[in-house]
Amino acid sequence: MHSSHRLLLLSLLPLALSSCIDNTRLKPRAATGAVPISTFGYTGLLGPLNWAGLSPANSACSTSLTQSPINIDPSIISLLPSAPVLDFPSVAAAEFENLGSTIEVITNGTTTIDGTTFNLKQFHFHAPSEHRINEEFFPLEVHMVHESATGELAVVALMFQLSSTETTELLTKVTENIDKIQTPGTRTETGALDFGAVVEHVQTTPLFTYKGSLTTPPCAEGLTFIIPQAPLPVNVETFNKIKSTVKFNSRYTQNDLGKANILDVGCTAAAGAKIEAGKAVGGNGTAVAPAPVTQPAAGKQPSHSVAPPVVAPPAASAAPVEAPASALPVPKASSAVKEEAATGAGAQPVHHCIMGACHTVPAAPARRARRWFQLYV
Ligand SMILES: [Zn+2]
Repeated sequence: MHSSHRLLLLSLLPLALSSCIDNTRLKPRAATGAVPISTFGYTGLLGPLNWAGLSPANSACSTSLTQSPINIDPSIISLLPSAPVLDFPSVAAAEFENLGSTIEVITNGTTTIDGTTFNLKQFHFHAPSEHRINEEFFPLEVHMVHESATGELAVVALMFQLSSTETTELLTKVTENIDKIQTPGTRTETGALDFGAVVEHVQTTPLFTYKGSLTTPPCAEGLTFIIPQAPLPVNVETFNKIKSTVKFNSRYTQNDLGKANILDVGCTAAAGAKIEAGKAVGGNGTAVAPAPVTQPAAGKQPSHSVAPPVVAPPAASAAPVEAPASALPVPKASSAVKEEAATGAGAQPVHHCIMGACHTVPAAPARRARRWFQLYV
């Protein structure tokens, strides 16, 4: 990553309201000791497709080329050359909190990787897993978040597989009082925690490693993931306790490392599809006023979020578009889209398939569609 880009991202981090960096130097706990409730979510306008729209600090979510989670392709993602050394002391109990976006255990320990010591700050849960290994997802993923003395972040990401014959006792003990933190902002204590089985698993299993990003806003780059090739077991009862509390908190799979941000690609394709739809109606791709908007629930949407311009779809599919009240004036952007449609009239069409949805779009509008994206996200 370009150094100035990295500096920009790091300077924005204190604005983050993210669980993945919770209790690290980038997001220290408030002096009041209150459990911080995340301001992002996994559904609708608060969900991952709109994280970049929630705050300018989250721009990496839609522009970065090294976003997490990814599908771990064993033929591409390398293995850690030597096993790390983990030292996670047993504790009689640990603080266990519901942040709204995840449930989290505050604990201590160290992981030493190639001579660098990372301090364990917390671990939290994602259901289903965020990463996939050789395309396969897992029911549960635990992120053990570490920070070095220089502020570098490393996450040991453990996959869990359902088992009818065995389980990981650590999770049984963690969830002993989970019924007491069913509401975001609440906390309780875990049972006695013994990390022995987890430490042995990490130190004896081949470990994938790559440099990716936070999987939650602000999606900042530069984070090292360490992911055991094999999952740990979890029984159905423990898994269901976790799932019913977390509900769903998995960011969609990102593009391969170094390739275009998949949200950027999707926005470009969507803009092209709208132009095509406009052509189908008006014959010349004329941009018109936005579709009707529906107000989000009070207090649910940050005031700085903006709505993209909308080129009218065919009448049969003109469903209302949900957007915040603070939408920017549309005419200027609509003009840009209109201009784009006009200049792209003679271009060869390109077939785009994004997340299973395929559209034939003109090639030329892509450049301007990207400008539309930059203006409004
Ligand atoms: Zn996480």
